[in-house]
Amino acid sequence: MKVLVVGGGGREHAMVEAISRSKHVDKIYCAPGNAGIAKLAECVPFGVMEFDKIGEFAKDNGVDLVVCSQDDPLCAGIVDALEEKGLRVFGTRKNAAIIEGSKAFSKDLMKKYGIPTASYETFTDADKAKEYLRTNAKFPIVLKADGLALGKGVLICQSLEDAISGVDEIMLDKKFGSAGNEMVIEEFMTGREVSVLAFVDGKHYKLMSSSQDHKRAGDGDTGLNTGGMGTFSPSPFYTDEINKIACETIYQKTVDAMAAEGREFKGVLYFGLMMTSEGPKVVEYNTRFGDPETQVVLPRMKTDIIDVMNAVIDGTLDKIDLEFEDKAAVCVVLASEGYPVKYEKGKVISGLEAFDEIEDGYCFHAGTKFDEHGNVVTNGGRVLGITAKGNTLKEARENAYKLTELVSFDGKYMRHDIGKALDEI
Ligand code: ATP
Repeated sequence: MKVLVVGGGGREHAMVEAISRSKHVDKIYCAPGNAGIAKLAECVPFGVMEFDKIGEFAKDNGVDLVVCSQDDPLCAGIVDALEEKGLRVFGTRKNAAIIEGSKAFSKDLMKKYGIPTASYETFTDADKAKEYLRTNAKFPIVLKADGLALGKGVLICQSLEDAISGVDEIMLDKKFGSAGNEMVIEEFMTGREVSVLAFVDGKHYKLMSSSQDHKRAGDGDTGLNTGGMGTFSPSPFYTDEINKIACETIYQKTVDAMAAEGREFKGVLYFGLMMTSEGPKVVEYNTRFGDPETQVVLPRMKTDIIDVMNAVIDGTLDKIDLEFEDKAAVCVVLASEGYPVKYEKGKVISGLEAFDEIEDGYCFHAGTKFDEHGNVVTNGGRVLGITAKGNTLKEARENAYKLTELVSFDGKYMRHDIGKALDEI
């Protein structure tokens, strides 16, 4: 069969790699893809928001399945648009993607259905938000723009003064655009954060292996927030006991809540959890594979991903036995110096061929492209995700750091403590 993957980051490279292992697939297209994806798929030059062009291409080329796992196109209705053309699509429809697209919606959903999360209030008026902060707030407090803001629409404020200027930034200055038309003010939670990905078919869910992201740019969790500097999986902090609680209080409840709201959820549901002293609570939902979490989860998935995707679409996920290798994986992101603020692009990357020979080691391309001479060059802040497996997390971590030495480019930057938290246990 022919599969078309929409997107062109490290997550899509990991998805394409998993799809390339499927016994059902003989041709993969990727729109727009990148220099690494081009080894496994034919890249076609459409942007992820060009639904008509993607749809026409898929029809003209006999594509059997389109796969999309990126927030902007999903929230804008790519699945609905392609299904209207008669295509078979793996991804979340617009009316369910709102679980990520609107934080006010997801908070209200959790409140209505008793799913544990931080207590909160929502506001559409800046003065009312400020009044609430002056009279009710305990600090630190968390301010969130309602809509999609590339992971940057969350402010943790230590004082009333900070919080008041945060409201101005979000609602009046519109720092995050229309995402700030509404905002959520919520209680600050403390605890370790764990990501849990699940396939969901509208009724049933199957959990993938847990993982943990490192969002800050610098070693020791210093510096600015980024799209993610590295990940490890599974998370030893996500114990069987926590899993049991989350199964009872979070996962099925969320799937059922969406169905009860007439917003049947199909696709990948990402649960961002905080392990608080009162048990696991939901920090956020995403309607897609997380990035770079996917880069440590999918390489260990043993079950044929196309069988799983078909089961999600057909509502038969309960028949699937989702299996992962009993190994650990660590991903270290190689970024361009200066990320996430200012960085250069177009630097030639060398050493990539070494990965052709390596088993259990992956070089996922996030921001790369071919230049006019056919060289692979940097084309973004996060450039590559280097993933390695190991029998233990420690071994996987050592293997991943060894592999980072194989590639070089001007301004190569990485954190040196991905998975370091593991040394504490
Ligand atoms: P992304 O898309 O990058 O995952 P986002 O914009 O959807 O981020 P959230 O995940 O809701 O935003 O929040 C980003 C980060 O802010 C969280 O990973 C967490 O570290 C912190 N955070 C969010 N809410 C809280 C909270 N209530 N208490 C403490 N920290 C929080």
